[in-house]
Amino acid sequence: MTEATSPDVPQFTVGETVRMRKAHPCGADTWTVTRVGGDVGLRCVGCGRRIFLARRELARRLHPRLSAETAKPS
Ligand SMILES: [Zn+2]
Repeated sequence: MTEATSPDVPQFTVGETVRMRKAHPCGADTWTVTRVGGDVGLRCVGCGRRIFLARRELARRLHPRLSAETAKPS
């Protein structure tokens, strides 16, 4: 058990796809997780742009319906 497993800070897995509430300017609203750590690295599925977000910030921006589903790898 670590701090990172606290319920308000969801875990992300490299390679998983997440959906944001707000679409990127390129029109895509899905991102691939490229790095996890202090910040989560994301690559836009539409245009390939890479960004980094704090895990907590990413959790806030995720689409609420999908955030639970994407939290578990399939
Ligand atoms: Zn994009």
